[in-house]
Amino acid sequence: MSDVLLTEWETTAGRHPWERLASAAAAAGGSVGASNAAILARRKAHFGTTMGLLADCPACREWVEFSAPNGIFESVPGANGEFLWNGWRIEYRLPTVTDLMIARSAPDPRAVLVSRALIRATKNDQVADLTPEVMVAWEAHLDEVDPLAVIEFSLKCDACGHAWGAVFEPAREYPRELEVAARRVLSEVDALARAYGWDEKTTLGLSPARRRMYLHMVGA
Ligand SMILES: [Zn+2]
Repeated sequence: MSDVLLTEWETTAGRHPWERLASAAAAAGGSVGASNAAILARRKAHFGTTMGLLADCPACREWVEFSAPNGIFESVPGANGEFLWNGWRIEYRLPTVTDLMIARSAPDPRAVLVSRALIRATKNDQVADLTPEVMVAWEAHLDEVDPLAVIEFSLKCDACGHAWGAVFEPAREYPRELEVAARRVLSEVDALARAYGWDEKTTLGLSPARRRMYLHMVGA
């Protein structure tokens, strides 16, 4: 397992989060939510579903600890579809990573995303331009069907009482965890190499319990 972790770390280290998201999208073949789900699935394979996170309070800069709800590991990415509301019928496709990349450099990212996601909108069977009201309803619908597209947590600071929504991006967070874990495994390999002269393959081949015991014995 450590071996798989190290390989993943060394083949992806230094990649930009967008590049990670795009490569996860290629594998997942779909929406932003599907890409995040693919990254979270890899995260779960290595580290399980317990995830401690830190955010700094925008008001007082104090660190706030929180944990990711298990639900994010179980969410099923949505699919393209249609939204029916008060005589409106909106055919859409869920935004992809490519859409996000194009939108982020536009003056009005939201408008670009909407225009790329919208296939056709009709009101009482007549083609129509979206009104602000139907936009709000449609966006709420998109959040529902693709819950992992934007993962937001409601946080509250214990120090000053400020409450805010923090966005969690698996493509940024997971590489950090991978880096920390890889560093720890390599420091164990290093400690046992110094003490016993074992090579990396030998140490990685030990069960976690044996490795822990030897590390304890050499005081590492
Ligand atoms: Zn605060």
